[in-house]
Amino acid sequence: MTNKTPSTSGTEDEEEEKFAKVKNNEMDNDEAMMRASSSSSSSSSSSSDEDDEGETQSISTPTRLQQRRVSGGGGERGGRKRRASMETNELSGVPTINSKKKKTKKSNDEKTKQNEDEANDDTPHAAHAKRVRRAKRLCFELAAASATLKELDAKYATKSKDIVNGSGPSSSSSSSLNTNDNNNNDKNDDEGGGGAGGNEVIARWFEKHKEAQTKWKKLTKELVDVESELKKRANEVDLYNSGNMQVLKAEEAALLRYVQFALCRAKPMSSIGELRDSEVCKVLEKVVKTHGVRFVLSLSAVSKQFQRCVRSPLVWESSFDLSTETGISDRNLLEILKEDDALSLCKNIRLDGCRFLTERSLMKLFRRAGNSIETLSMVNVAGVTDELLAYLADKCTNIHTLDVRGCKNVDASAALQLAWPKLRKLQLKGSRLFRGRVPWTDFYLLVMNLEGLHESEDNKIEKIAGFRLHEKKEENNGVVYRQDDETVTEEQRKIARDVEAEHTLSIDVERLILSTRDKIKKWRSNDVGGVAACEHAAAVQHGNTLAANVLTLMPRCGHVLCDRCELESRRHMVTHTRANGTKFYTYPCPACNLTMPSPGGFSIQLLLND
Ligand SMILES: [Zn+2]
Ligand SMILES: [Zn+2]
Repeated sequence: MTNKTPSTSGTEDEEEEKFAKVKNNEMDNDEAMMRASSSSSSSSSSSSDEDDEGETQSISTPTRLQQRRVSGGGGERGGRKRRASMETNELSGVPTINSKKKKTKKSNDEKTKQNEDEANDDTPHAAHAKRVRRAKRLCFELAAASATLKELDAKYATKSKDIVNGSGPSSSSSSSLNTNDNNNNDKNDDEGGGGAGGNEVIARWFEKHKEAQTKWKKLTKELVDVESELKKRANEVDLYNSGNMQVLKAEEAALLRYVQFALCRAKPMSSIGELRDSEVCKVLEKVVKTHGVRFVLSLSAVSKQFQRCVRSPLVWESSFDLSTETGISDRNLLEILKEDDALSLCKNIRLDGCRFLTERSLMKLFRRAGNSIETLSMVNVAGVTDELLAYLADKCTNIHTLDVRGCKNVDASAALQLAWPKLRKLQLKGSRLFRGRVPWTDFYLLVMNLEGLHESEDNKIEKIAGFRLHEKKEENNGVVYRQDDETVTEEQRKIARDVEAEHTLSIDVERLILSTRDKIKKWRSNDVGGVAACEHAAAVQHGNTLAANVLTLMPRCGHVLCDRCELESRRHMVTHTRANGTKFYTYPCPACNLTMPSPGGFSIQLLLND
């Protein structure tokens, strides 16, 4: 459909001319069509249409002249150029209407011929032919009326601003409404009389619009009557019993479809202002996901309704994602939060990579969202602290998924110790105790916290299902019931799975903690050879604690190196190329060639002599 909405965006001075021009073009087409149809088919009210259009044309002309006077020579050329391109655009749209109309006309002609043949035979056929003619004429007139209406609407959309403000368009860009208004007001003072002409034009526009709307309403009503009549006839079986009446039945069915199509096409476009708040909120909720938080907030400038809806909790219910706007500052977030309940229903919050956020704004965010939060992702946010996590565990009791990977101010051990009521997934990789050289005593505390956590989980589970989950898992290589254990029924396995899903906390670093624990044990037990990767480490292992300053255990292979030998072995680096072409380096362990932790990566410090 070639409605005129595209033209509302665009610079205003060109709009004026373009409209006048396009109007002329379309008028020509339409008038031609009208004449053609009125000459070929039955009576028509197209003469009144022509009058309408003649007058609308005259509306646009004065403004066009006025505009030319205002904008002078320089802008004119560009305007003309642009106008030309718009014409082709608009024209390319027009043929679709034409072809549709032509088709209608052609079939109309065929029908009339056909019907003329049959008309003399008997009355049902004559009545049928009359019905078809009337329906087609109504369809055609309705299409014309709705086109006129849409044209008038589009005209108003582009002109009203200038007209209401009382001067021709002067500023070249209409990007900001406010600045435009100011400009126009100044102009008004200078020009004086300009406003009166505008008001006259707008008054005539209202008159035209009212007239067109009345006509549209009348035609729609008539066509709806035709539609219901056709529907009624289609349901009456007896009507088409005799032989050649079947043809009529098929024809009328096709006519009914055509009428319905015409009615549908002639409906006025609903504008965004006609949406209800709940609908706007639903749309905005989708836009949040595709365009981000700040874009949606900026939409509050669109209208009062948007301003209201943007702060509705419904918009933010499913997602508050700042991971695409990692540069956001504390102040920005505080501004976004304001003092209302916009985020009070928010279930999923994502702040990955927001490195400038501090405890202050984060705390406010969590206070606003409170109990509604279910998943929370804060990868690489230095502002996340142990105190903040304690607050979350205490107040945001519905969190089931928490991601604090790379948060260097989060103590993994403390995070495990908190009493999370519903937490089922916790990601701690890269948080404190998983980065750099970690003293083994600290690490052991973490191990104990993890074991304590599992124990309390097991107690809970044992009460409900009667088995100690983690112990069983450990003895069965990670599963509660072994697959080959035939004494366990399928039902018991199912219960085990359900209970596990409901009560155990999955932690991304659990395996790393346990395997590192085993490696430290191995080192300390002294009786297994091959753990020390340099002679200094071996000397320390055999009681000479002064043989090295620092000893490091590498979690991956379990080998222990002194700091000097570690530095030495980092000379032998291996270059790798990723699929995207970037390069990265690894350092093989001198004892086993497995990759050592990258510099600054997670390792365990076993000894420190200062
Ligand atoms: Zn060494
Ligand atoms: Zn090794």
